[in-house]
Amino acid sequence: MIAETEPGGRRAQLHLSHQTIQTPVFMPVGTAGTVKAVPQDTLESLGAEIILGNTYHLYLRPGHETIHRLGGLHRFMSWPHALLTDSGGFQVFSLSGLRKVSDEGVRFRSHLDGSSHFFTPEHSMDVQIALGADIAMAFDECTEYPADRSRAEESLRLTMAWARRSLDHFRDHRNQVVWRNEFEGRTQSLFGIVQGGMYTDLRRECAARLVEMDFDGYAIGGLSVGEPRALTLEMIAEVLPLLPAGKPRYVMGVGYPDEIEQYARMGVDMMDCVLPTRAARHGLLFTSEGRLNIKAKRYAEDQSAPDPACNCPVCRRYTRAYLRHLMQAGEALSGTLNTIHNLAYYFAVMQRVRQSLNA
Ligand SMILES: [Zn+2]
Repeated sequence: MIAETEPGGRRAQLHLSHQTIQTPVFMPVGTAGTVKAVPQDTLESLGAEIILGNTYHLYLRPGHETIHRLGGLHRFMSWPHALLTDSGGFQVFSLSGLRKVSDEGVRFRSHLDGSSHFFTPEHSMDVQIALGADIAMAFDECTEYPADRSRAEESLRLTMAWARRSLDHFRDHRNQVVWRNEFEGRTQSLFGIVQGGMYTDLRRECAARLVEMDFDGYAIGGLSVGEPRALTLEMIAEVLPLLPAGKPRYVMGVGYPDEIEQYARMGVDMMDCVLPTRAARHGLLFTSEGRLNIKAKRYAEDQSAPDPACNCPVCRRYTRAYLRHLMQAGEALSGTLNTIHNLAYYFAVMQRVRQSLNA
């Protein structure tokens, strides 16, 4: 990573085995080995350089061992660019009621068939090494919001112990990644995740401990879990200066278009969120004129582009009236077109930030 710290954001290149990423970057979420409704060649044409896979989902179906036997996640999903897998921790966290946390790890029930599974930091690393994304994430516990101080402290203690175990196991086994020989012995990177709830001193303590452990990059997790945006901002502002300037900084699970721009301008390099893709499937488009609910009756005969200021393939070709009709009729193309536009809009936001930092 060659990073330039400038007021108003950092413009850098992140050199990963499969792709050099231009940062700041927004990463679409490809939960089950697909960015829902969008084929890989379309993602490429929109300029996507890195997408996420969800460890929890891929572990349950089709199974990390299957993906490993098929040559790893890049080859399985025919995505020769960069991939990042989460640790599985967040999905398990969102299964509240179906999980039981101990120092050793987390026992949870599959949302698919109710079967019982146990995830430890070591197991999360094994699954992520089998999947073989360019970037793997340490196994953490995402502290819920609101959480009182003793709960946040307890959660942080687990996250820091699990970070150490994740790193030790990853270092011992990273050479097993399936594509190692294709990339001159390069292996995956592992990022640590700063937790600490909404307590600035806990956040600072976590950041300092993780930096001592010397991860390849650092994420700020446990945000966008229902807290007011002012708190999100405060936590990011508190943690960023404590992270080493020469390594990537990733804020997980954010946000709206104005948020990702704001965080990028604070010096965040990477962000991911299901929002543009999930909202698209529900008919919510992000546009230069604000949020547009394409289901609204007033668009029934609207011949204008979804976003007249957008240059994406959907806005160049189709009308609001047509997109509304597809949604009303429950046509599969609806989710595809809406998602392509929203992703193009998010990528354009990041491109604008990058261009302003190039000057
Ligand atoms: Zn568009």
